[in-house]
Formats: sequence, structure tokens, C-alpha cells
Amino acid sequence: MRLSHLFIFVLLLTVLACSKSSEVETSASDASATITVVATPYGESKLEMKLFKVKDAPIYYVLGFSGVPDTQNEGHTSNAGFVVTDAGVVVFDALGTPALGYRLLQRIREVTEQSIERVIISHYHADHIYGLQAFEEHAGNPPVWAQVLALGYVGGSTASQGEDAERRLAQRREALFPWVDENTRIISPSNTFEDEMSFVVGGVSFMLKHLGPAHAPADSILLVKDYGVLFSGDVIYKGRVPFLDSPETDTKRWLRGLEYLVELDPPPNFVIPGHGEPSQSVEEAITTTSDYINYVRDAMSSAAENFAPFEDAYNATDWSAYKEMPAFEASNRGNAYRIFLELEAESFE
Ligand SMILES: [Zn+2]
Repeated sequence: MRLSHLFIFVLLLTVLACSKSSEVETSASDASATITVVATPYGESKLEMKLFKVKDAPIYYVLGFSGVPDTQNEGHTSNAGFVVTDAGVVVFDALGTPALGYRLLQRIREVTEQSIERVIISHYHADHIYGLQAFEEHAGNPPVWAQVLALGYVGGSTASQGEDAERRLAQRREALFPWVDENTRIISPSNTFEDEMSFVVGGVSFMLKHLGPAHAPADSILLVKDYGVLFSGDVIYKGRVPFLDSPETDTKRWLRGLEYLVELDPPPNFVIPGHGEPSQSVEEAITTTSDYINYVRDAMSSAAENFAPFEDAYNATDWSAYKEMPAFEASNRGNAYRIFLELEAESFE
């Protein structure tokens, strides 16, 4: 008797949950539509990829899921966006697998038939670049722009990170199979800039600015000046623990980059970070990132200065403010160690 009550209760919950999710879906009404399988030339994708539009601007974006890339999120952990102009589409970042890049392209095609004028990459890390392959193979191979240090990722410059890129690709072929497989290729930038670059496409003014090395050597932001919209790439993380655990991370410079964003005049009225929800204020957008970097730097600094062991400093730190945040387990310890090494090196300067 009690068991059957329980059964009815669970059934009721299921019905409620289903009706709730179908409310969110804009067009689909049957329950089966909650899981939509999208066929791409790079494998089937079952993720919802919602397209958002910036109010009063021809600017669109998709948001990745929190956490680290895995088969559950199909590698969709980063954000990407695009600006539609009369002379073509400017894309910012390409997502973390060719299938996701293809789905972004499908989203663009729902909005406009304009050709892809260029793709700008905020920095060369797997979660932002593997989708480039879809643009090369299905969008007329548009120019790919990145800051010049990005060339190091593919082994083309003295800042040789080629080995790192290869290792990452091997890791993703395991972690994100079948979306990343032996056919997945890293597409190099075709065009580069050094410090800053302004350009106009279809009457819309853009400004690209290098703020790295921060999270990665080539870290750059894109400002869509006419609309006051800022694409920050991974200089800004929201809703998850930022990723600092790379030999190229420079948190001192990273904090300077965040200061630069706060001082932009006029201030942007819409910020789309590399990870997490957008924001209407730069100050609000950078809080998680700057607080976290400062917190870890403070926690590690005295230990590094006194050449105390990392383990002791790490275990003595109160991590409760960040413990529940996505990517804490995967990133926090490595982040802290990376900052510890950075501070140790700084104390020799
Ligand atoms: Zn990222």
C-alpha cells in the first residue's frame, strides 16, 4: 500500500518535472522533444544549445555548461558568440568540439545567410578552438584571428606550447570521444595581431586587445564598440573556479587585465565571459575571477616567501567559500600550486 503511494508520488513528480521542462522549450510540446538529437558531420549531439540575443544589438551568444569537459556536457563548457553585420558575421570563439562548432554554425544560419567574415579566438585552449574545424569545412574556411602568441600553441613560435597542445588533444580524444577523435585537427590562426587592433565590418566598429599572458599567453578581449558589448574570453570566469593551472598562467598580469577592463571608458553595458553567465556590469562580471585570484595569492604568499611546503599552506587554507563551486575539485589544488610556484619565482625577482 505504502509502496504504491510512493510509486504514485514518484510518477507525479516525473509528470511535474516533464511539464516544467516543456514550458521552457519554446516550440516543442511533447515529452520526447526534451531530448533532441542533432546530427552533425562530427557525430550526434544531444545537448540543448540555446541561442541568446543581446537586447537592441545584432549580437548573439551561446552559454556552456559549468564544470570540466566530459561526455555529459559533450565538451560544451565555454561560451561563444557572433555579431551580424551587413558585410558578414564576426564570430568570437568556436567552442570545444567540431560538432559544437557545427551547431554554432547552424545557430548562425538560423539568424542570417551572411557569410562568416572572420572568426576571432580569445586564446588557444581546447575548449575554445576545436570547433574551428567545422568553420573551415562548412563555412568557407574564414580567416581565423588570434593574438600572435597563439601561434605557440601549434608549435609555430618560440613560445613553444606545441607539446602541450598535442597532449591535450590526446586527452580529449579519450574524454570526449566520439566528438573528438582521430579526425579532429587543431586549426592554426591565419591572421595575428600584437597588442591592439581596431577594425570595421559592415559599418560596425570592433576593438581587439591583448591582455595576456593571463590565463593563457594570447588572452584577448573583443569590444563591439557601437553596442558597448564586451566578449572577455577567459580573462573573466563566472560561476565556476577559474582555470589557473598552466605554466603560462600569469596571475599578476591577469589582475592588471581585469583592472584595464574596469577602466574602459565608456564602460561596456554587456559582458559575455568565456565561462558563465553574462553581466551588465564589468565590476560585477570580474568579481569571481579577481576575488578568487587574490584569495589564492594571499593564501599562498607567506608560505612561498618563507619557503614553507606547499602541502602545509594548502591544508591550512579555508576553502569553504569555493568548495561548492563547479570545477573546484578538478582545478583548485592545481591552481593553488601554480600560484605557489609563481609567487616563489616572484620572491626571487
Ligand atoms: Zn576556457
